Amino acid sequence: MTATAKKTTRQFRADVSQVLKLVINSLYSHREIFLRELISNASDALDKLNFKGIEQPSLLKGGEPLEIRLTVDEDAGTLTITDTGVGMDRDELIENLGTIAHSGTQAFLAGIEEGADPVQLIGQFGVGFYAAFLVADEVEVISRAAGSDEVSRWVSRAEDKFTVAPFQGEHGRGTSVILHLQDEHKGFLQTWQLRSLVTRYSDYVSHPILLGEDQINQGSALWQRPKAEVSDEEYQGFYQHLAGDPEEAIAWSHFRIEGGMEMTGLIYLPGQPAPDLFWQETRGGLRLHVQQVFIMDDCDVLVPRWLRFLRGVVDSNDLPLNVSRELLQDQQAVRGIKRQVVKKTLDLLEQLAEDRPEDYQKFWQSFGTVIKEAVHEEPRHREALAELLRYPTSQGEELTSLADYVSRMTDDQEAIYYASGTDLQTLKDSPHLEKLQSEGREILFMVEPIDEWVVRGLEAYQEKKLVSAMHGEQTNDEEVADAGTAKDLLVKMKEILGDAVGGVVPSQRLTESPVCLVVPEGAMHAHVERLMKKTGQSFFDTKQILEVNPDHPVIQSLARKEVRGDEDLERWVHLLYDQALLVENSPLPDPNRLARNLTELMAGVLDKG
Ligand code: ADP
Repeated sequence: MTATAKKTTRQFRADVSQVLKLVINSLYSHREIFLRELISNASDALDKLNFKGIEQPSLLKGGEPLEIRLTVDEDAGTLTITDTGVGMDRDELIENLGTIAHSGTQAFLAGIEEGADPVQLIGQFGVGFYAAFLVADEVEVISRAAGSDEVSRWVSRAEDKFTVAPFQGEHGRGTSVILHLQDEHKGFLQTWQLRSLVTRYSDYVSHPILLGEDQINQGSALWQRPKAEVSDEEYQGFYQHLAGDPEEAIAWSHFRIEGGMEMTGLIYLPGQPAPDLFWQETRGGLRLHVQQVFIMDDCDVLVPRWLRFLRGVVDSNDLPLNVSRELLQDQQAVRGIKRQVVKKTLDLLEQLAEDRPEDYQKFWQSFGTVIKEAVHEEPRHREALAELLRYPTSQGEELTSLADYVSRMTDDQEAIYYASGTDLQTLKDSPHLEKLQSEGREILFMVEPIDEWVVRGLEAYQEKKLVSAMHGEQTNDEEVADAGTAKDLLVKMKEILGDAVGGVVPSQRLTESPVCLVVPEGAMHAHVERLMKKTGQSFFDTKQILEVNPDHPVIQSLARKEVRGDEDLERWVHLLYDQALLVENSPLPDPNRLARNLTELMAGVLDKG
């Protein structure tokens, strides 16, 4: 007997124990998912064998059919899930079931800590095997790796350890997971239970699932079946399996492309965003099959990054079977597939927006930011993407499309107005919009930094320019045009404020407020520039321009020098400037100065009285 052939007992790695406990504690009300998880692992093992068989056809020889078998032993109280897939050798048993190497587990733990739904997480990050302990107090895994004669046996009663030993009995290629069911879960030994669970959760598994002699699932690749023969329920079931999402998909598109290129695609829009949607490294991807053989999950070269939320399958007839992740990059066919996926997704979104506007709004709430990214990244599809945008406006928080906005424009309105700021409330109260609003103009409200890029990318919609209600119009900021009696005051104000502002100019847009700050034409809004500076993406230091309402009583009084000397004027001017910063939610350079000035000026006013 060799050293490795002995029975050994090992501790689970700390993170496994943690995950195990979490799985058991958070999924007790969804115990039945254990079967789906184990069948899904079995199906993956069969896919992997198929894939390996491309390079090593000998692995597939031996006549064992590719299948999954459920076996019930009432006397022993066991349910066994057997597959004829790739199997695991001793080291793989230890590695795969005893330590968690995949980064998914870290994400799972982090997700749980953040309060994410464990049922959703479990699908996404694959801690599926441990679901076995939801119903079993002991789990045995007997496995023979394809191409090997050695059979190993892994056993654990959860807690914190497991044992591995050589298995003396017979076992064909693949894996058996034997569940010693807890007394209260012996119901899972009943065949009607198993049938109904398989129909509910695993019907779409493309390998046959056998119970006794009967095949109890459909067993054909769902995307290869004609659309008319697949029910909505089946589409949803397949989505949930594929995406590991307990919620339903919001919409899907099932298509076949022929002539020139040959592919079948089934793409889904999820109902809710995955927790990692906005992580820097998230790339997304679709499951890739070549001539119906499973090649890989999360194949990211098939989608542009903005489509990282998309889930689905692509089955191509134009790629070689032995294609690797690296080789895929250079395949002409991949570019063709990607183009089709983008096009079909845009069609799907357009249709959703048109036919089911309420569902589209829901989609927008979760994924709108990503669609905005696309406007920036996908210049070729800008027109189609522009139709998908939705914004709140000054006429109500209900989101509007650009098309609807334009349909409400009056004949004399030439541009589409938008205002950008940190939040809706700030925008609603913004002095910048006073004039436009008094003229009854509708203004789009943009509160996401990425909107800055949307506007730059689009420039116009239906030939109507997008015009910021908050940008300055003149670049020659030193020029104090027609400011009437306030002319000298404006020059004085610039002297007092110095480098804090790029200029002080009379305003066309204020009716109620004395001042507001605008950014020069072409510059980024202050809150976006702040954000970019924080993340090291911008080194600009754009100076805002102070716009002054020459007709405002406060400005008129100051122009008439109704103040107590120069020092007082300075206070008033700083106060006006600080107030302009406050209303746009920008930080004050010196809050103490504001407090001091306020106190002094209050004292002055009270003195007078
Ligand atoms: P996931 O399947 O998401 O990777 P699991 O915890 O379900 O996570 O399984 C961990 C690993 O154990 C799998 O990645 C796979 O390598 C291996 N495994 C599980 N079940 C089987 C099986 N029936 N046949 C072969 N390998 C398996």
